[in-house]
Amino acid sequence: MVQLLWLRNDLRLHDHEGFRLASGHGAPLAVIFILPQQWLTNDDAGMNRLGSAKSHYLRSALIDLHRQLEDQTIDLHIFSGDPLQIFKDIQAEFTGTDLRLLTAEAQAPEESDWISGIRDLGMPVTTYSAQTLFTEKQIQTLGSSYPSPFTRFRNTVEGDPGLWQVKTPVDTPPLGVHEQPLRLQSPVSWPQSAYQVKLPVSGGERGAQLWWSDYLKSDAINHYKTTRNQLMGKYSSSHLSAALAWGCLSVRQIWHDILQYEAAKGASEHTYWLRFELLWREYFHWSLRHHGKQLFQPNGLASHAPESRPDPARWQAWCNATTGVPMVDAGLRELRHTGHISNRLRQNMASYFIHQLKLDWRLGARWFEMYLADADVASNYGNWAYIAGCGHDPRPQRQFNLNRQLRQYDPHAEHIHYWCPELSGENATNIIRHQTGEQILPLYPAPVVPAPDGD
Ligand SMILES: Cc1cc2nc3c(=O)[nH]c(=O)nc-3n(C[C@H](O)[C@H](O)[C@H](O)COP(=O)(O)OP(=O)(O)OC[C@H]3O[C@@H](n4cnc5c(N)ncnc54)[C@H](O)[C@@H]3O)c2cc1C
Repeated sequence: MVQLLWLRNDLRLHDHEGFRLASGHGAPLAVIFILPQQWLTNDDAGMNRLGSAKSHYLRSALIDLHRQLEDQTIDLHIFSGDPLQIFKDIQAEFTGTDLRLLTAEAQAPEESDWISGIRDLGMPVTTYSAQTLFTEKQIQTLGSSYPSPFTRFRNTVEGDPGLWQVKTPVDTPPLGVHEQPLRLQSPVSWPQSAYQVKLPVSGGERGAQLWWSDYLKSDAINHYKTTRNQLMGKYSSSHLSAALAWGCLSVRQIWHDILQYEAAKGASEHTYWLRFELLWREYFHWSLRHHGKQLFQPNGLASHAPESRPDPARWQAWCNATTGVPMVDAGLRELRHTGHISNRLRQNMASYFIHQLKLDWRLGARWFEMYLADADVASNYGNWAYIAGCGHDPRPQRQFNLNRQLRQYDPHAEHIHYWCPELSGENATNIIRHQTGEQILPLYPAPVVPAPDGD
């Protein structure tokens, strides 16, 4: 018997059910990561799924995991290609040997298809929970209260002590299994970086653990609710998203660390609010599992798709960060260079893309998916659909007034000055006038579509 542990969005050793199961079984183990070929292939809009910062983050996470496994004399085998074909090749390599595949539960339909394809090859597959706070069984206990609007989901969860406490993270014992070498070769060619990348938090399990313990030690969590909407700032929000998206940190561990912090230093609206945001993530994850491919349709989870029409000029302006709306262009530049933008800016950019540029919301979601280091299919498409008014939100659409948002969240245009230094001599008032269509910044492109002012 040979055990194959296929890691996808669970690139860590702590709180890892897969490693625990493998170790408990004792048969030789091969640990695998596959870079799916389709992530590297450009789609009809010229986008792939591995932009510079995202690719940088993923590589750092894999390097860190590789080193940690090496300490336990286990190799991390990294392949590139079609996952199903790679498992077929492994099966051929081990003809006559029983194989057992361990892998995390599928989050997205694409992963479900891979896992059922592998089962169809006749390979026994055991799945484990790695990405969410709650287990499938726990979610089933919610019965008719799920799926439902977020507030009902949250109220139900908060009213259920069994759920609200969240399962305790499991200890991953030292592996104590022999490595199973693989002869299979499938060299990985990582995309070349087109931009100089500057991640806000370094990639990988150990970097993320250091960052998280620094965040708690600094007590920045005690101002989380007040500062989380800021557009910049090291401690303005938790910066956990990329580590959670790739599973370098376990969300259950984070939850328990917050509870421990509350027990030691006192609970506050801020510590609660960080868990509240983690519940949004949880909600989108279970929503995607429930609705599956429907979320990727033009009408998302609603009966009607929002109004949109293809417009190559507007699309090109977005891709080149030359929409002429400095708040949006600054966000687009930041995204390409760091793989991160604040939640507030994501909301404003998505709103402009959907409600002003009137482009298909799914195109915007794919753009974010390519560049965000924290790209998480459930949270990304869930949030885009929500702003497009075809997600879970009962309101028909959520349009943001970019000018009012700029006055509130970047009153001195610091974020814009940082990412668009050519505007460093301009104050927020002039920038807003330009965004609304008064062409008062002669050296800056005019808005492809002005950001309307008013209510
Ligand atoms: C259009 C759009 C696209 C988005 N795409 C993604 C994505 O691909 N991946 C992703 O992780 N988040 C996404 N978000 C949610 C949110 O913007 C990021 O999680 C957050 O900005 C990450 O920074 P942080 O870790 O400092 O967040 P914090 O404010 O510190 O929040 C803590 C954690 O809670 C979760 N969280 C917070 N807000 C949300 C939210 N609105 N939806 C889901 N989870 C949330 C994240 O895991 C985050 O790390 C998107 C939001 C919008 C509006």
